[in-house]
Amino acid sequence: MSNVRKSETLDIEFASFFQKSFLAMALLSPQWDILRVNPAFCKLLDYAEEDTTAFPFIHLLHPQETARAEELFGRMISGLAMKSVETVCLNSEGRPVPVLLSLCPASERKVGEDILVLTLEDLSFQKQVQNRLEYLTNYDCVTGLIKATMFRDRLEHAISRASREKTRLGLVMLSLRRFKKLNESFGRRAGNLILKEVAGRLGACLRESDTICRQRGDKFLLLLEKIEETPQIMVVLEKIFRELEMPFFFEELEFFLVPRVGIALYPEDGETADHLMENVETAMNRSRQEGRCKFQFYTRKMHSRARERLELEGSLHRALEWGEFVIHYQPQLELKSGVITAVEALLRWNHPERGLVAPNDFIPALEETGLITSVGEWTLQKACAQAALWGGDQDPPLRLAINISARQFLERDFLAIVKKALDDSGLPPHQLEMEITESILIKDIEESASILSGLSRMGIRISIDDFGTGYSSLVFLQRFPLQALKIDRSFIRGVPRHGESTAIACGILSLARNLGLEVTAEGVERQEQLRCLKDWGCQQIQGFLLAPPLSSEDFHQWMKNEWPQLKDRIFCPSSQRIFCGK
Ligand code: C2E
Ligand code: MG
Ligand code: MG
Repeated sequence: MSNVRKSETLDIEFASFFQKSFLAMALLSPQWDILRVNPAFCKLLDYAEEDTTAFPFIHLLHPQETARAEELFGRMISGLAMKSVETVCLNSEGRPVPVLLSLCPASERKVGEDILVLTLEDLSFQKQVQNRLEYLTNYDCVTGLIKATMFRDRLEHAISRASREKTRLGLVMLSLRRFKKLNESFGRRAGNLILKEVAGRLGACLRESDTICRQRGDKFLLLLEKIEETPQIMVVLEKIFRELEMPFFFEELEFFLVPRVGIALYPEDGETADHLMENVETAMNRSRQEGRCKFQFYTRKMHSRARERLELEGSLHRALEWGEFVIHYQPQLELKSGVITAVEALLRWNHPERGLVAPNDFIPALEETGLITSVGEWTLQKACAQAALWGGDQDPPLRLAINISARQFLERDFLAIVKKALDDSGLPPHQLEMEITESILIKDIEESASILSGLSRMGIRISIDDFGTGYSSLVFLQRFPLQALKIDRSFIRGVPRHGESTAIACGILSLARNLGLEVTAEGVERQEQLRCLKDWGCQQIQGFLLAPPLSSEDFHQWMKNEWPQLKDRIFCPSSQRIFCGK
């Protein structure tokens, strides 16, 4: 075939390809004026073919792209090869269309003399995907706020700026008490709507230069720049509390959240992002723990306390494994019969350096770390086994009272764990008593009711510990299957001389009588307390008057040797009659 015939065929094939191609194509003059466009080009940029004829192509580019494009076109053409570049065109309505633009001369004639073939590949979809991916990486889809990684970048930049300009920064961490509960009770949709609303309210309290991020769950971080004086932060915080303490609504229900806030300042509380983040978290945790305190500025003392706490948590982790926990037992006396009818199991930590540590110093840490579940299970197993052993020696057999913590009580397999402890030890269920505080029950009333009926069905006795210090709610007393109340020792301490304590103790006793509940008085230390309690119809007492909590061996010895003598002294003191012979 001659050269002329070959190029004619090619021309025909190109013309057909040009017309039918899905790729937007245009032929440009050496001066980049449009000579012809194909239907795909018209479709992409929404132009009629006739409107583009003799139009300078450069006018179809986004104004911000023209300078770059002119330079690029020059380089492309002088290189005489096909080159591609990502750029942005404007369609007939002026809307930007991202494209991959490729340009090449139609033949190898001198530069500037040949017509040019231009193709445009639509990148809108890729751009959308890319933007979405970027959004998902950097933004939280629930609230639309930036995520922690981007916040961290901004914090680092703000620190360098503040260091250059010698200004201060405020880093605020905010969490919402009750949010978790709300989320669990009403589902994620309600939770997400409320988080979104919180983000909106927070945004309304801040300046444009400030940054907000949702760190995770119900935790938010705020970066306040150019803080001159601490009161400036207080103004922002007051606004935030005002906004967040207003009710939230979901499906016509009204909710109240309790914001808790920690604050760390640059440069005094940390000069690096790591340091500030660590300290603001410490301050926030502190404000969560101190029930009444809405916010906490970071202090160095907190750092050492947080450190101590971390060390404590670390050593608690190995305490169970290394057998450092022990159980002590404190007897309870039935006043009517003068018989020791029960013991309360009280946990101690035998620390290798600190000696015997009292539960109030480590139970909160066990609760927070979740270790209470395994330690609670161990206590239950061990104490049930011990009580089963004693049970055989005594008539009536000793009852075992065990303290149950909130986390342990609401654990999913709590009933199964109790059942296993009873089965393994052989302790009859009616010899086991669970001491539960009102604050546990209030956490989840429905769930608590179902767990308590499970325990009750098993035959286990249930008592409310520290009664009078919590809600002292009649609703609980009626609604739950309870057998006994334990009057907190803070009321017994004042009996009978302190009028108020005495009135409360008497009030609890009469309430219990009317509801058919038994009462155990805690912390009985003096004979006169015992006498009054007996006269007022209290069924059991527990306290140092009888014995402090004792190790299992000491308790065994106490029952054998000390109790018989003590009993005589308590019940028939030489100087005064109490209720000898009753
Ligand atoms: P609680 O259940 O109210 O226990 C009574 C506390 O009063 C015990 O303190 C006991 O030693 C003390 N006590 C008893 N009689 C007297 C007295 O006459 N005078 C004085 N001043 N104190 C008396 P302890 O052993 O330090 O326990 C404190 C709390 O720790 C307990 O209060 C209970 O809430 C918790 N606890 C103890 N063992 C456990 C456990 O195994 N699991 C859980 N979850 N909590 C436990
Ligand atoms: Mg107790
Ligand atoms: Mg108590």
